[in-house]
Amino acid sequence: MTESYDLLLKNGDIVDPSQDMRQRGDVAFRGGRVAAIEADIPVTEAAEVIDVRGHLVTPGLMDIHGHFYYRGWPGAVDPDVACLPSGVTTAVDAGSTGWGNYPALRDYVMRDSHTRLYAFVHLCATGLTSLTARVGELQNLAFAQTDRAIRCIGDNPDQTLGVKVRIDHRATGEANALPALRMAREVADATQSQMMVHVSGTPVPLVRLFDFMRAGDVATHILNGYAHNVLDGNGRIRDGVREARERGIVLDVGHAGVHFDLNVARAAVAQEFWPDTLSTDIHTPPPDRVVYDLLGVMSTFLALEMPLEAVIASVTSKAAAAIGKPELGSLRVGSPGDAAVLELQEGEFSFVDAVGNEVPAGQRLHAVLTVKGGHRWRALAA
Ligand SMILES: [Zn+2]
Repeated sequence: MTESYDLLLKNGDIVDPSQDMRQRGDVAFRGGRVAAIEADIPVTEAAEVIDVRGHLVTPGLMDIHGHFYYRGWPGAVDPDVACLPSGVTTAVDAGSTGWGNYPALRDYVMRDSHTRLYAFVHLCATGLTSLTARVGELQNLAFAQTDRAIRCIGDNPDQTLGVKVRIDHRATGEANALPALRMAREVADATQSQMMVHVSGTPVPLVRLFDFMRAGDVATHILNGYAHNVLDGNGRIRDGVREARERGIVLDVGHAGVHFDLNVARAAVAQEFWPDTLSTDIHTPPPDRVVYDLLGVMSTFLALEMPLEAVIASVTSKAAAAIGKPELGSLRVGSPGDAAVLELQEGEFSFVDAVGNEVPAGQRLHAVLTVKGGHRWRALAA
């Protein structure tokens, strides 16, 4: 007989914020897409059946800030190693390359990866690869050409999301901070695309950066602990930060190990101020730096008592909205067939930040399996 479905996940605890769904049930896939969500789908109807009782079933997770130009930059990681084993089926390269080397990211990484990848194109022609030589990428604005960046984004509309710029002491210094932001604004406007702005370690006040940002732009590293963070001198969320959110600017975590401060996060949480999206800024860290995968960042926020459904939303439906891809991050019937099966492990864990603070945790998320394109994803043998 011919089965109706390629794959059936049985008895899961389905959490899909895109449909306001939390229910016990079955998810079936056919032809690379989600084909059915029902309380009980007969096992005879599927070619492969996996009993996921006791585990969460979520849409494929999305990490909107990582670095995946691993064939060209030692600071980056292989997306299929960093993402798929953790339930992440869609990821965004956050400006590892600029217009000069973006074609190599596209042709030698994105084209070969099973992980669905998008990219922000850095304002600097060579992206972050200058960091290999310990040179901030926009210390010299001769490395930024708006016309070429505009052409690069315009020529690659399916894979690029917009322009990336880092406003930071090392990246731009103070003199180039606002000129670089102005140039990024020009690129985003000309291409009608998004701007992702690194706001950690900025030499100018955070709220000043928001003046250049519009609805849909992403401020990443939003819970960093450097000067000009989201808190004012009294530990209150700055009015300008709340206004930025009201204007539709996406506030993204971009943890990175060095751009996340638990004291800032705790103060934000105490004021019920949650980030919009959780992301890793995953990269190859130096030996003394802890960079979490997306499950580690999600588990950190569970430890900070962010509700589970909100944590899942921030890496599925809200992440999809943040990158303008609402068809992703969902288990709606007809959606791309990506899902994560996650176990909420009980135990004694702790999660750290940039400066050695720790948050204890009684649970953490662990990926049991990943569904990509309607089939169980398996790592190739090493
Ligand atoms: Zn980054």
